[in-house]
Amino acid sequence: MTDRYAVIGNPIAHSKSPEIHAQFAAQTRQDISYERILAPLDGFREAVLRFREEGGKGLNVTLPFKTQAFELATKHADRAHAARAVNTLRFDYDEIAGDNTDGAGLVNDLERNLKFPVARKRVLVVGAGGAAQGVVYPLLKAGAESLVLANRTKDKALAFVRTLFSGMRSLYQLTACGLDELAGQRFDLVVNATSSGLQAEAPQLPDALFNEGALAYDMVYGVGETPFLSYARSQGAAVSDGLGMLVEQAAESFFLWRGLRPNTASVLEQLRRA
Ligand code: NAP
Repeated sequence: MTDRYAVIGNPIAHSKSPEIHAQFAAQTRQDISYERILAPLDGFREAVLRFREEGGKGLNVTLPFKTQAFELATKHADRAHAARAVNTLRFDYDEIAGDNTDGAGLVNDLERNLKFPVARKRVLVVGAGGAAQGVVYPLLKAGAESLVLANRTKDKALAFVRTLFSGMRSLYQLTACGLDELAGQRFDLVVNATSSGLQAEAPQLPDALFNEGALAYDMVYGVGETPFLSYARSQGAAVSDGLGMLVEQAAESFFLWRGLRPNTASVLEQLRRA
């Protein structure tokens, strides 16, 4: 029998997840279907429970429901706990398992596709929304020497760092600040986890932010070179958009559901060509 999966969000028409998962399923000969579900802004919980009742096996969750998915899940992976946000649900009998694959998606794109190991790097993550929250713990676990979380609204970054359980905070070098406090600091990896690129804007960052050999990564994809990446290139950094992260986080969800790791390189290449 065909197992049903879907991506749920609002809006959802733009999502590339159905075509990515269709390619994973074809590669690994899995009998699955994968659809888009547009949930009303006040009807996320009902839409998830209906899909489960109809026999659905799991869901990807996108804007603006990742926090509600965290609340709906009855058990959480560590990385979902750390993120306080869930992008993957799996229905395990009576339980709803919540996970967050965004961080693994970013780390895998950096390390496997871009050949940029995170270990011993000084990392700056700009932003403090769901996307930034999803990648902080996985970047630290991947061995980052230090991580600064900087946001336009400083209090949001401070509040998120405070929510991380205290045991974890003592293990890692993690700080939060406003964008205006970055002057004089230098990084090996700068991740733009803001949505600024979608409005053809860049976060206001100081010059001389990049160490030699640094990489600038914008999570936004599909809009050409963002102003953040143009700025980083002008500062001498190598640059990447977030399409590889999208494919890698999907592969990690696929693995959680099916226990198989698809080949991501061919899917990424096909999306780039398209
Ligand atoms: P979100 O929760 O709405 O957060 C938006 C963040 O962007 C906030 O920190 C906000 O700062 C900041 N921001 C927006 N415009 C800005 C500007 N002009 N200057 C400085 N900061 C600005 O969104 P999200 O869920 O975190 O997603 C962020 C982006 O990541 C989206 O574009 C999304 O498409 C992308 N994303 C990509 C992937 C992938 O697989 N590639 C995965 C997840 C998300 P304030 O707090 O000050 O408002």
